[in-house]
Amino acid sequence: MNTQPAILSPRLTRTFMEHLKRRSRATLGTGRNVSPGAARLERMLNEALDAVAREVRPKVMYRMLPVRSLTGKSIRTDAGAVKSVKLARLAQNCRGDVFVVFVIATLGEAFEDLYRRETSLSGQFIIDAVGSECAELVTDGWNNKWNSLIKRRGHECSLRFSPGYCDWKLEGQTVIFGALDADAIGVTLTKDYLMIPAKSISAVALAAKKVPAAAPCAFCRSRSCPWRRMEFTGVP
Ligand code: SF4
Repeated sequence: MNTQPAILSPRLTRTFMEHLKRRSRATLGTGRNVSPGAARLERMLNEALDAVAREVRPKVMYRMLPVRSLTGKSIRTDAGAVKSVKLARLAQNCRGDVFVVFVIATLGEAFEDLYRRETSLSGQFIIDAVGSECAELVTDGWNNKWNSLIKRRGHECSLRFSPGYCDWKLEGQTVIFGALDADAIGVTLTKDYLMIPAKSISAVALAAKKVPAAAPCAFCRSRSCPWRRMEFTGVP
C-alpha cells in the first residue's frame, strides 16, 4: 500500500453545484414557501452559490499509514496515536493488516475572502451555511473515490471520524496534522486545535481486508449518544 501523501483538487462541477444547492436549501429551509422573505433568501443563496463556483478551489490531502500497534485504547501509527477506545475496538476486530487513512479537505482562503466581503448578517449566514455544506460534499466526494480505490485493492473501509467526535478528543487533530503537511494545502492548526481556514474538515478512516462494521456504533450500547451512525448489532 502506498503511504505517500496525495493532494487532489476536486472540481466544483455542475452536478456538484446542483447537489450543493439542494443541500443548502434543505439546511436554510429556503424554497419551501413563496413569501417575499423566502424569495429574497433564495436570491441570496443563488448569489452565494455562484460566487463559490466562481472563486473557490477546494483541496484535499490524504495519506494512508499502517497501524503499528493496538492497545485497546488507541491506534498507533508512525504519525502518532488515534486515542479513541471505540475506534480502537473497531480496529481490533478488523481482519488482516489494518491501515489508517488521514485526510484534510479545505475550501481554502478564497472562501474566507468571500465571507469577509459579505457585509450583511443574513448574507454571512447564508455563505457560512453554503460553505459548511460545500466542505462536507468535497470530503464526501473524496470518500467515495477512496472507498472505490480501496475496494479495488480488495480491502474494506470504515466511515470517516473527526477529532471531537465520539470519544476522540479534539486534541486528536495533532495526529492528523502530524501525518499530513497541511501547509501544502494552506491549512494550519491553532493552539486550540481549530483549523484555519475554518471551512476545513479533518478525519481518519480505517481500512483492512475485513472491517466488521462501518462504525464502532455497531458494538456500542450507548443509548443516548447523539452521534450514533448505525444500529447496535452486537459484539463481533
Ligand atoms: S454510539 Fe456514539 S459513543 Fe457509541 S460508538 Fe457511536 S458515536 Fe461513539
